[in-house]
Amino acid sequence: MSPRTAGRPTVRLSVDRSRCEGHGLCQAVAPDLISVDEGYAELIDDGDVPVHRQAAAVSAARTCPIAALRVT
Ligand code: SF4
Repeated sequence: MSPRTAGRPTVRLSVDRSRCEGHGLCQAVAPDLISVDEGYAELIDDGDVPVHRQAAAVSAARTCPIAALRVT
């Protein structure tokens, strides 16, 4: 758990890097959660998403054309 989310309720965002094609659509939807670098989506705070940003994480996952993102 990152310092930013320590002690707070979170959901998890994960990326299948074997599928990610690095187009960056997810970053456009949730730049505070995802950064696309060197052709892959990098998850900010290791994918720990504050509950109040859960909807943004879900939107980013739905935006991915190859379903490489998952929210749990
Ligand atoms: S939208 Fe999907 S394929 Fe594109 S960078 Fe994000 S996770 Fe990767």
